Amino acid sequence: MDNKLNSGYRYIFGPVPSRRLGTSLGVDLLPAKTCTLDCIYCECGRTGNLTLEIKEYVPVEKVKSELTDYLSQGPRLDFVTFSGSGEPTLHKQIGDLIRFLKCEYPEYSVAVLTNGTLLFDPEVRTRVLDADVVKVSLDAGSVENFIRINRPHKDLEMSKIIDGLIGFRKIYSNQLWVEVFIVKGLNDKDIELKKIKDILKIVGPDRIHLNTLDRPGTETWVEPVEESFLTDVAGYLRNARVVHKSDVSGKLSGKDFRGFIISTVRRRPCTAEDVSRILNINENNAKKHLDKLYENGEITKTSMPRGVFYFLKREKE
Ligand code: SF4
Repeated sequence: MDNKLNSGYRYIFGPVPSRRLGTSLGVDLLPAKTCTLDCIYCECGRTGNLTLEIKEYVPVEKVKSELTDYLSQGPRLDFVTFSGSGEPTLHKQIGDLIRFLKCEYPEYSVAVLTNGTLLFDPEVRTRVLDADVVKVSLDAGSVENFIRINRPHKDLEMSKIIDGLIGFRKIYSNQLWVEVFIVKGLNDKDIELKKIKDILKIVGPDRIHLNTLDRPGTETWVEPVEESFLTDVAGYLRNARVVHKSDVSGKLSGKDFRGFIISTVRRRPCTAEDVSRILNINENNAKKHLDKLYENGEITKTSMPRGVFYFLKREKE
């Protein structure tokens, strides 16, 4: 089969080609936007539901049914990735879903993209233990920057989160990756980077990724650092890799352009070039589809250094 995703799916999206995870099918377990943080750079917009409540946000049986419907056709995928409109470990049944994938579709690797804020909870740790990759975020070495950049739920404590990461590393033997998002003027100072480096040394992840603003973030005043700066920081942190701009490549087929584009830009702002790569169509054609959706008022757009990004209209913040 080709990798065409039926636009009627609600909880699965993509597949998105990614340098880090190959061809990755997204699973979105939260209503937009539900998270423990409200990061200033978040590409999904402001966190409407800032919460620590763990529950079944979307019906797990329906997610399984969409996964079965799609995966039983044997699509060419490398990863099934829990990510999307918020923090996936807030979903109480994420562990059931990971086990379900490992039992029924062992040919696919499973990744969880989490901000790591709930890994202090032993039950949350246990739920994600069977994932092949767990990627957590660590953007601050100091409480001040944690509050400024990540704008956490009021009951989250940075020290507890870091203890959670250290504890998780002790019991998790698969791939633990940490992503550090650098914001110009905030966590790009030597003193902050030294603190981040010290924490990373204790946590001991298998990989460190460095990222900066590339898509429209929640706050328009957030600025990226230069890629050369990221390269310097990567050298300083040792073993770190820079997430290069336009982290999409590869070829997928898809005919239901409208449904696919809406489902993709709902989770992640995209340029016409991004969409052309994901859909395996030429860039002009991608732009034509995007502009039509824009003219119909279905999506909106904004200019960034890397180009014009299209995304779903966000509720007034
Ligand atoms: S970037 Fe991730 S952790 Fe931060 S608010 Fe967005 S979804 Fe939540």
